[in-house]
Amino acid sequence: MSTPLKQITSKTMVACGVTADLTVDGGMTVISPVTGEPVASLAEHSVADTEAAIALANKAFRTWRLVPGPRRGELVRLFAEELRKSKEDLGRMVSIEAGKSPSEGLGEVQEMIDICDFAVGLSRQLYGLTIATERPGHRMMETWHPLGVVGIITAFNFPCAPWCWNAALALVCGDPVIWKPSEKTPLTALACQAVFERALARFGDDAPAGLSQVLVGGPAVGEALVESEKVSLISATGSTRMGRIVGPKVAARFGKCILELGGNNAGIVCPSADMDMTLRAVAFGAMGTAGQRCTTTRRLFVHESVYDQIVPALKKAYASVSVGNPLETQALVGPLIDKTAYDSMVAALAEAGEMGGVVHGGERQEVGPDTAYYVKPAIVEMPAHDGPVLRETFAPILYVMKYSDFDDVLEQHNAVGGGLSSSIFTTDLREMETFLSAKGSDCGIANVNIGTSGAEIGGAFGGEKETGGGRESGSDAWRAYMRRATNTINYSTELPLAQGVVFDI
Ligand code: NAD
Repeated sequence: MSTPLKQITSKTMVACGVTADLTVDGGMTVISPVTGEPVASLAEHSVADTEAAIALANKAFRTWRLVPGPRRGELVRLFAEELRKSKEDLGRMVSIEAGKSPSEGLGEVQEMIDICDFAVGLSRQLYGLTIATERPGHRMMETWHPLGVVGIITAFNFPCAPWCWNAALALVCGDPVIWKPSEKTPLTALACQAVFERALARFGDDAPAGLSQVLVGGPAVGEALVESEKVSLISATGSTRMGRIVGPKVAARFGKCILELGGNNAGIVCPSADMDMTLRAVAFGAMGTAGQRCTTTRRLFVHESVYDQIVPALKKAYASVSVGNPLETQALVGPLIDKTAYDSMVAALAEAGEMGGVVHGGERQEVGPDTAYYVKPAIVEMPAHDGPVLRETFAPILYVMKYSDFDDVLEQHNAVGGGLSSSIFTTDLREMETFLSAKGSDCGIANVNIGTSGAEIGGAFGGEKETGGGRESGSDAWRAYMRRATNTINYSTELPLAQGVVFDI
């Protein structure tokens, strides 16, 4: 790389509007997986800082909840404009910090723009209901009010889009947000906040201080948010391990929680599948973002009659896929986030091999310094749906298994902890509808003839079981950011009681 990465990072951050000194040795070194070298050093926020941020956000809530929804939408509209202007820079930050290809980095920023556009429309559609009442001269309705402060905890692999799925909706719903990004990707968060502040500067005086804040730090900062009764909703994206800690803590204080956790996503390739389309969908789903998407395809069930068509073609695609530096090449597969991720991939492949799995690929690639971890994606032909196949290893490993009976494969498909995303490749109407029916995929996302990854923001995003049950983004996910009140109004001169109860005094 002709210009040092550290310099590219600083320049990009400045272009996004970040004025903070990125060289302060405050305890948090930011390492780019592209080369494995440090690109910045930041001061971490303390638990006391977190408490101060929560207090400021609560103060902001008292004002923001009274600003009309469409006016709140105007702030998000301005933010979308600023995001469009900064798309290249933010996309580059995603590539630097998370190692994504330029097109995936830009795609993540586009997702932010899309959810902002969605939220602007939503700001005029925070609809309640009018409900038929059993009492004469009465009216019953349901109204939605701002909820309170929203704490957003995010994972490294999507350094900005999931924040925006939450923040854009929360802001139009009348809630201030506090963001605790992954300790592996704090720079993208600071860059997003700086871009947001440009929108704030254009918005006017009715946006209170502390409407959107970023806290840089690790789990301890996240825990301070999680444990605070003054944070009404925690939206946490990350591993199931993290969710097992966060979920009960929020429940213990009767807080609200959206959990977006790990997945173990599968595809089923049926005899009638369009093989060319299936090949491309599976290749992107399994290898894209170096297997580091929550929706990555990790398991593939292939009908025995087409196994010899699709599996050799997949192996060929795996052998020829380009692995390389996402900032300097057009490679389709970038680096793993760090050594821990590489070690877990090596361990999972060894375990699969011991169980009789035939491993193709998975070798470490020499790309730049040995502090960076690039791997050839691995495809593993497994004799059974067992062992490492049953859990999420956050790396590009695709376990392939043969099936013969459709009902059996549906059972196997659902026999894992994760319940995020799923796909069926078929042109058979019965198989397709069964997969989407009550006895079919038990995931929050069930697709036909497209891969498991690459969701659009218009639908509700999230999954069941160990994925946590939360929903974000489109559809009616906005309701989680508001509180519901049922109102009954008596405009008669009588006082009839519900259920015919008599209480004459
Ligand atoms: P992680 O669980 O290690 O960290 C995620 C976030 O949680 C980080 O900000 C971290 O600091 C914070 N955290 C960790 N422990 C905490 C605690 N005890 N209290 C409060 N906060 C805590 O996950 P990761 O390695 O960054 O990301 C990869 C994982 O995230 C994978 O399992 C992936 O499937 C999942 N993920 C899920 C979705 C989804 O929408 N379902 C999206 C992206 C990633």
